Amino acid sequence: MNAEIISVGTELLLGDVVNTDATIVARALTTIGVNLRYTGTVGDNGERLEQALEQALERSDLVITTGGLGPTEDDLTKETIAKIGGKPLVQHEESLQRLEAYFAGRSMSENQYKQVMLPQDCYVLQNDCGTAPGCVCTTPNGKRIAMLPGPPSELEPMLQHYLIPYLQQDSTTVIHSHNIRVFGKGEGAVAQEIAPFTQGSNPTVATYAAEGEMFVRVTAKAESPEEAQKLCAPVVEQICEILGDVVYGVDVENLEECVIQALQQKQMTLATAESCTGGLVAKRLTDIAGSSAVFEMGAVTYSNRIKSLLIGVSEELLKEYGAVSEQVARAMAEGVRAKAGSSLGVGITGIAGPSGGSEEKPVGLVYLALSDGQQTWVRKMPGGGMVRTREYYRCRAASTALDMVRRYLHGLSVNPEEL
Ligand code: ATP
Repeated sequence: MNAEIISVGTELLLGDVVNTDATIVARALTTIGVNLRYTGTVGDNGERLEQALEQALERSDLVITTGGLGPTEDDLTKETIAKIGGKPLVQHEESLQRLEAYFAGRSMSENQYKQVMLPQDCYVLQNDCGTAPGCVCTTPNGKRIAMLPGPPSELEPMLQHYLIPYLQQDSTTVIHSHNIRVFGKGEGAVAQEIAPFTQGSNPTVATYAAEGEMFVRVTAKAESPEEAQKLCAPVVEQICEILGDVVYGVDVENLEECVIQALQQKQMTLATAESCTGGLVAKRLTDIAGSSAVFEMGAVTYSNRIKSLLIGVSEELLKEYGAVSEQVARAMAEGVRAKAGSSLGVGITGIAGPSGGSEEKPVGLVYLALSDGQQTWVRKMPGGGMVRTREYYRCRAASTALDMVRRYLHGLSVNPEEL
């Protein structure tokens, strides 16, 4: 089945809202073997929406719209689709009851009723997290149009609980993917190393760059999840073997998740002292549920005074080598570890730019240190060369620090090469 997504909303065209709905729908369609061929965005304009829908119905079996199901004048999706399908809008009793129950004891504006007017004979998709139901209409020539609400918090549960199971009823194939996450090797180098696999058709293998790291996706199509998994498994295994220890996980979300898991397994704890990353490592670690068991403290030791006062970096060291130096990074890791009484300490100091660089210490120069109480490792990101954004340097430094911890916890060399 070929599908197309049309996202409706002027706010999307103006760039005020990022179209995350399309991403959520696209991901869900791949899991049931539906081929997504096009995605598009239209403003809240009935005429242009009608044109977009007519074009989509010519080339796709399934069109999924997002947004425009609400109570206001500019919510035109159902009206436009009902017009195209030649169906009147009729009140859906069950949705009306749900709407009235939702507003029970509170005043409800008249326009709320508009949401429960659905194209006649449609298949209704219940909204468990909002008031506007979605629905699926079938056109006289068997094409389908599914309508989902705009807010992602409403769209996602409706998609997962109602639309995907509905579409799955007549799907004969499933798509199964694995993501191999890599840190410390670029997309170009990885693509070259695994080139023989990227020629295959089932499973397909593709490389993607993402936020200073990259991942390899292995995707198989089969009649059952078990068969698809059988096709993927040997390829995933071989790719992991070829790439070696730069692979930090398969089907994991990110480095921080791996670090928290490894700390839990080893029953070790961590503390961080960050300067140029401003607490990014601590933020990323504490994003992970369960981090409180292993993450002791994260200090943003920005000024020299606080570096000395809070984690005991000596004033002499700061004077002699400067705040951005191997020696200070080392002292930060050791100092925060001692202060927190944790198994491991991380120190990060650098120049995120755009100003503050010099010939000797260019923008992008970052020192990262990891201490376990016995030994301290320091890694240098040299900076200089192509000028990148402040955000890039900070994100890259935080990921590198997390990767140092991961490597330590997995018994790998903490400083395999300078990045
Ligand atoms: P409501 O009942 O809230 O009016 P709706 O189905 O009419 O729902 P819209 O009015 O189109 O949806 O959008 C409501 C809000 O949902 C938008 O202001 C925006 O914050 C969010 N939203 C809409 N479309 C998208 C999208 N494609 N991606 C992410 N967020 C979106």
